[in-house]
Amino acid sequence: MNLSHTRNSVLIARSLSAVWHPCSQMKHYEQFPLLPIAKGSGVWLYDYDGKRYLDAVSSWWVNLFGHSNARINAALLEQLNTLEHVMLAGFTHEPVVQLSERLRELAPPGLGHCSYASDGASAIEIALKMSAHYWRNQNQPRKTQFISLKNSYHGETLGALSVTDVAIFRDAYGALIRQQATVVSPDSRDAAAGESAEQFALRCADALELHLQQHHHQLAALIVEPLVQGAAGMSMYHPIYLTRARALCKQYDVHLIADEIAVGMGRTGTMFACEQASMTPDFLCLSKGITGGYLPLSVVMTTDEIYAAFYANETARGFLHSHSYTGNPLACRAALATLDIFAQDDVIAKNRATAAYVQQAAGALRAHAAVKNWRNTGMIWAFEVATPHVDFAQRCHRLALDNELLLRPIGNTIYFMPPYVISESEINFLLAKTLYLVQQLSE
Ligand SMILES: *Cc1c(COP(=O)(O)O)cnc(C)c1O
Repeated sequence: MNLSHTRNSVLIARSLSAVWHPCSQMKHYEQFPLLPIAKGSGVWLYDYDGKRYLDAVSSWWVNLFGHSNARINAALLEQLNTLEHVMLAGFTHEPVVQLSERLRELAPPGLGHCSYASDGASAIEIALKMSAHYWRNQNQPRKTQFISLKNSYHGETLGALSVTDVAIFRDAYGALIRQQATVVSPDSRDAAAGESAEQFALRCADALELHLQQHHHQLAALIVEPLVQGAAGMSMYHPIYLTRARALCKQYDVHLIADEIAVGMGRTGTMFACEQASMTPDFLCLSKGITGGYLPLSVVMTTDEIYAAFYANETARGFLHSHSYTGNPLACRAALATLDIFAQDDVIAKNRATAAYVQQAAGALRAHAAVKNWRNTGMIWAFEVATPHVDFAQRCHRLALDNELLLRPIGNTIYFMPPYVISESEINFLLAKTLYLVQQLSE
């Protein structure tokens, strides 16, 4: 056993003893050991044996421009030597101001006010609280309920769980949350035979209207993951649903919260998914890719109208919500460096070419008999695998690691959500290895 191997197993043992890992049954690590990562570069992660793994899921959907990106590193080093943090109540600083101004320029028109937190779920908490508090300030205190789509995922704090419809995350905590209603998801896989994705989306919007008609007096907001429901297994739907939802929410005096935590920052092919429906939500939530995958940061953007409803002499009418690290300068600076890369490299246009290349290079994978529902939105690809293995996700994840690939299937859905810097040869590698996995696991 060489030295790196020793360090590896020691690190695993120390981690299992001291670290409670997320989204895990800790006992399973007895069979499927943790993988200590020593360093990252571009789309690759490296373990202590020098073995590499192509990060095809952008480390839980956060990384945009590769690990250890030189430009983001340089910006962070400079910020580190200037101001690491200052409280944002009563104080301000250049990075948070610049970031808010630049996001306002980029976002759908009308979202001029940025409220910050540290993670996606906290952004959802802000949006839910702000929406209900808005109605309270407008003398409509009964409007305290929310609706989300079937199979929605909006995070795992108690408020966010109340609008999350993924049983495994929610069931154990059911007694702690005030579960909110769901409406049918426009997931285009559920369209009837002969029905287009657009027709199905319109039919689902009709169901939404029925719900709004009956319940709008109690409803504060509808919350959606625009275009792609990530944790549901990359369900994709037609943008017409968002266009209709926007109009219906306006008509019935219900806010629309766009949770773009996963799909914002170029992931769906436009900077923000809402652009594809030409609409402005009342709240836009961003996190994950906003710092390029470097530091925890989230933001909720909202309109003048909502902002104005809180602007008053009484403290209690103000929005009372805070996080210790609100608007952390280092995180904001990483986000600014990320936005610089978008502008300097014309990333949205470049991604269009990358996506076209994947579609064309994926011919053999798409043609495999076990590959079902191949779908793509921007820089997200997904398909289901017809497999006899009930533990497909776990098996596929392990076999992928053996083949230098980091994949994390959801059920029998394999998806790719790679960093935008993935090259054509790396795409070929990803597709060839994935085809091999499908061949191995579909027999
Ligand atoms: C990841 C995610 C969240 C929660 O973000 P965290 O930072 O994990 O709390 C919320 N909504 C969507 C759509 C997400 O993908």
